[in-house]
Amino acid sequence: MTRCLVLNASYEYLSITERWIDALSLVIAGKATPIEHYPDVVRSARASFQLPAVVVMRHQVRATRRRRVFDSPTRKAVFIRDGFACQYCGTRLSMNTGTRDHVLPRSRGGPDTLANVVAACRSCNARKDNCTPQEAGMVLRTQPRSLTEDEKIQCLLKTVRAKERSTWLDCLRRTGITLWAA
Ligand SMILES: [Zn+2]
Repeated sequence: MTRCLVLNASYEYLSITERWIDALSLVIAGKATPIEHYPDVVRSARASFQLPAVVVMRHQVRATRRRRVFDSPTRKAVFIRDGFACQYCGTRLSMNTGTRDHVLPRSRGGPDTLANVVAACRSCNARKDNCTPQEAGMVLRTQPRSLTEDEKIQCLLKTVRAKERSTWLDCLRRTGITLWAA
């Protein structure tokens, strides 16, 4: 199945449709305008359509449930931000071998936010245990922070297939669209 990147009328990221038929329906209903297509064509009895890769909603969709996908310290977000490296010893991590470490431990009131979570290898995480880095005699290589726009896009695009990623990125670069306005 071919997914489609859906932008709000403001050109900010809105969603991704999992099935091409959903994106095509938006276009046929006049609710969205395609600004990038895949080469693939689908045919009905009367017409043929190129599959939309990126569409822009004609009217702004009220972000009643504002997408918080990249505000929470998920493994993916933390690992991408920290370059898949343990922030204490620098060991390379994978999604499987890495852990999330709460700099100020949760048991001591540390919040579960990007500003308090770093990527850590299992042994550093175990060594640090219920301490602050200072108490454990460990030094953070970088201070945890929220994601930059680039990291958010990277986070989003990591979830999609290569064909989708390159098509979307080409489109965003060509049009100069920023998915998240400041
Ligand atoms: Zn480590």
